[in-house]
Amino acid sequence: MKTAIYPGSFDPVTFGHLDIIERASQVMDHLIVGVLNNNAKSPLFSVEERVKMLREVTAHLPNVEVQSFGGLLVDFAVQSNADVIVRGLRAITDFEYELQMSQTNRKIAPDVDTIFFTTNLKYAYLSSSIVKEVAMYGGSIDEFVPPVIAGYVRQKFEQKRELIK
Ligand code: ADP
Repeated sequence: MKTAIYPGSFDPVTFGHLDIIERASQVMDHLIVGVLNNNAKSPLFSVEERVKMLREVTAHLPNVEVQSFGGLLVDFAVQSNADVIVRGLRAITDFEYELQMSQTNRKIAPDVDTIFFTTNLKYAYLSSSIVKEVAMYGGSIDEFVPPVIAGYVRQKFEQKRELIK
């Protein structure tokens, strides 16, 4: 039984993330999507909201579970009995950071390895930051996120606009 953890901020989840989740869930017995509780990054969505959104868009995948975590990723991986960490690689710009992180994690927890999925070319440009940037200025994000997520993002920016009125 192989368990993997796919960690990230998912602020919000995009089609790029979902593509990695679907592909990883096909080669793993059990995939835990780990949502980082990273208040330091001042996310748009709270960790509870990000977990809820991910659960909604992965409900069709029976071997995928969504959990939040704080602190060191390798501690979460060890506690969850995970064999591997899954990450996605978009462009060469992701590579240096990801290489350093995976080597650091392997140093701390030698039994937990990292595997990388290369992005689906359709989503190579896509990031949560791009989604937020476009949505903030009222652009359509329908190409970037599932319809239910687009609704939550629009609602969040409307709430923010109300607050500053
Ligand atoms: P983090 O802050 O940990 O990078 P993200 O939510 O931005 O969290 O990303 C989580 C993981 O998903 C990372 O491995 C990232 O490289 C990957 N990822 C994000 N967007 C895409 C995409 N469009 N295609 C493939 N992988 C992606």
